[in-house]
Parts: sequence; structure tokens; C-alpha cells
Amino acid sequence: MKVYEAAYRGWVVKESHSTRTREGAITVRCPSCGSEKDRVVDSRSSSDGLAVRRRRECQGCSKRFTSYERIEETPRMVVKKDLRREPFNRGKVLDGIITACQKRKISMESMETIVDEVEKRIREDFDQEVPSVFIGEVVTEHLRNLDSVAYVRFASVYQEFADVSEFLHALTRLVSKERTTDVQR
Ligand SMILES: [Zn+2]
Repeated sequence: MKVYEAAYRGWVVKESHSTRTREGAITVRCPSCGSEKDRVVDSRSSSDGLAVRRRRECQGCSKRFTSYERIEETPRMVVKKDLRREPFNRGKVLDGIITACQKRKISMESMETIVDEVEKRIREDFDQEVPSVFIGEVVTEHLRNLDSVAYVRFASVYQEFADVSEFLHALTRLVSKERTTDVQR
């Protein structure tokens, strides 16, 4: 469920709505006379498309005012393996990736891109709570394609290897890659 927020000068109303919302469906009180009846004169989206600015005309006193509606995403909670919950923290995911990628030739941009992908997948697949395992899986999946060393480090820390053979396979690839690197030096 998304929360739509209508604001006028410091005065803020938060209303929980279902995603179906009609044009100007939110009740906004006129700042001059307090009437709740108004007519939407003009609506336009902000440049990022996440907010709508509406010019309204009060049907009580005919004064015009502006309301802003912004889609505010409810923060997702991460459910850990021991069932404890904590709010999703982008920085924490990035820290895990940075640790796994230490001394590897991986740009900060690529790491940020993985976190972007994690956030996108969470938004698409979960409404309120997301298992930490899912986050680990998405990161693992991306690191696997990016860098085998970082992948093994991350997967062993987060224990996301499905079984021992998968781990051994990853390790073998890692070792053979390091040998190749040694020869190249
Ligand atoms: Zn009014």
C-alpha cells in the first residue's frame, strides 16, 4: 500500500490510499476558509514523475491554492534468518558488496548498480517484508557474472551456496583464474 501525501505550506495530510486513486481524490482543506470542497484547475507531474502538483480553486471562497502529492514508498522490512526484522538499508548491502570486492578491479559504479538492482527487485516482488536470503541471492547472482573472487567471498560469508558441489565448483574456477593471472604477470 502506498501513502499519498498532500501538502500545502507546512500543513501536511497523510492518507493511506489503495493504489487506485482518482484525479484529485484526496481531500484538501482550503488554507483560507477551511472548506474541503475544491475544483482541480490544473495538474502536472514533477520532472521525476514521482509528484503531482495540483492547482485548486476553493468552492467556498474561490481562492486558489496548490497541493502536492508525492508517492511515498513504505519502507521494506528485511526478515533475517532468525526472523528478526530491520528496515532495508541500502548502505548495508553496499558495504557487503564492497567488502567482497576488496582489491578487485570492480568500479564503485558497478557495485552501486548491483544495489540498484536489489532495490528494483524488492520493489517489484515484495510489498512490506523481504527475506534477507532474497537480497543475498540477487547480490550473489550479479557478483557471479562480475568477478569470481568477489562471488566466492560474498557467497561464503552469506552462505548462499546451495550445496557443497556448487561451492567446490566456484572455488575451482576461482583457483584456475588466479593461476591464469599469475602466468600473465
Ligand atoms: Zn476557501
